[in-house]
Amino acid sequence: MENKNISILGAGLVGALASIYFAKRGFKVDVFEKRPDFRITNSYGGRSINLALSDRGWLALEQVGIAENIKKISIPMYGRMVHYQDGQTQLQKYGLEGQAIYSVSRGLLNTELITLADSNDLVKFHFNEKCEHIDLHTNELSFVNSTTNRNSTINPDLVLGADGAFSVLRSAMQKTDRFDYHQWYLPHGYKELTIPAKNGEYQLEPNALHIWPRGQFMLIALPNLDGSFTCTLFLPYEGTVSFANLHSTENIIQFFKDNFLDAFELMPQLLEEFEHNPVSSLVNISCYPWVHNRAFLIGDAAHSIVPFYGQGMNAGFEDCRILNDMMDNYNSWEDILENFQKSRKPNADAIAELARRNFVEMSELVANKRFQLRKKIEGRMNTLYPDQWIPLYTMVTFSPHISYSQALHKGLKEDAIMEKILNIPGIEENWQEMDFKEYLDNK
Ligand SMILES: Cc1cc2nc3c(=O)[nH]c(=O)nc-3n(C[C@H](O)[C@H](O)[C@H](O)COP(=O)(O)OP(=O)(O)OC[C@H]3O[C@@H](n4cnc5c(N)ncnc54)[C@H](O)[C@@H]3O)c2cc1C
Repeated sequence: MENKNISILGAGLVGALASIYFAKRGFKVDVFEKRPDFRITNSYGGRSINLALSDRGWLALEQVGIAENIKKISIPMYGRMVHYQDGQTQLQKYGLEGQAIYSVSRGLLNTELITLADSNDLVKFHFNEKCEHIDLHTNELSFVNSTTNRNSTINPDLVLGADGAFSVLRSAMQKTDRFDYHQWYLPHGYKELTIPAKNGEYQLEPNALHIWPRGQFMLIALPNLDGSFTCTLFLPYEGTVSFANLHSTENIIQFFKDNFLDAFELMPQLLEEFEHNPVSSLVNISCYPWVHNRAFLIGDAAHSIVPFYGQGMNAGFEDCRILNDMMDNYNSWEDILENFQKSRKPNADAIAELARRNFVEMSELVANKRFQLRKKIEGRMNTLYPDQWIPLYTMVTFSPHISYSQALHKGLKEDAIMEKILNIPGIEENWQEMDFKEYLDNK
């Protein structure tokens, strides 16, 4: 591979991890980030405060030897704790004993990745450098420094656009012939709120992802290391129950009392936060190709998905691992990048589709008796036939060697089989004695 100087746009989660991968292979990497150095400012102007990290993300971190560093700042969540309208709760395990997804602060994770990358002499970070223009023919990048107002240009051998959902590299590609681009917004927005620690203690079970499923809207809460929880309220922008209709102190309080009473009682700063924290939008972006000459897209810049499977960052980390595999398998950048985009695009599309669908699972189905029975039966089938029946959630979350598109494909077959099983007369009473073998053989 002839290109020795690589420039990465964006020191977000994926850009920082990609720099570690490249440096491990001996490339000199410059990372340009429009924001200030989060390690110095100690403030992180990110979107969601904490994220769920699962096995695809862990595998990508392990391959560059940094998973243990990140484990130290993560909290395992073994299941979802469903909070019903009447105040009852129910823990639904995510997988087998010991299987968990991990809550990690976006700011801490990003800071740790940058610190780890920066410890390698081959990686240099340039903060406050906003990329404003890219010439795709010459690979010339133009920057403006937000503190000095100074303009600069560079001409790297290879450019990696890890600059997120509103990528400047992708904007440049959009002006090229036959570039496909599709973007849509969910009718829902989200707002972040907090359940603070009480005397340094968690006020809810810390090893669970809490969900208050209410059909067209929901509240979720993930634990932080300091005993607090970051809550995210997903709600339509407009309509009867919507952000647009929550405009007075009284109706905000009434809405929370009616729908999330147990959480409401743990949120002393609710009104202050509700007023202060923005409503952010949820966008899905797909595009192709991801490669143009010596520039290419990765992470959210290539595929931005809605957050309901907790997989956006995990998919971006997986991009880094697969790109590394391609560098093992091919010798020219042309082949590496071509095979990278060809292998990743169907998987990016599959996880986008799965994430879209999972909104209904999270906001509605988890509270549905038939769905809960299905989960129990699937758990039993997985225990009886671990190689033949792997539930969709397990394939996506805990099986990094099953691709997203395989998971989607197998998941559709499982849906059809489970429909039949759930229609067996008396299934509610008898499922624990049944072996479901005939259904497996038809798979
Ligand atoms: C509400 C919500 C919850 C989520 N929860 C999860 C979850 O639980 N699990 C999960 O896996 N994923 C989750 N995600 C998705 C996850 O946040 C993204 O997939 C992930 O942040 C993508 O990382 P990235 O590095 O590609 O992009 P980003 O994190 O957006 O980073 C891009 C970086 O590029 C910089 N940049 C942008 N433009 C320029 C420019 N012109 N010049 C220089 N720098 C630039 C930005 O400042 C930023 O630092 C969630 C997303 C949302 C919105």
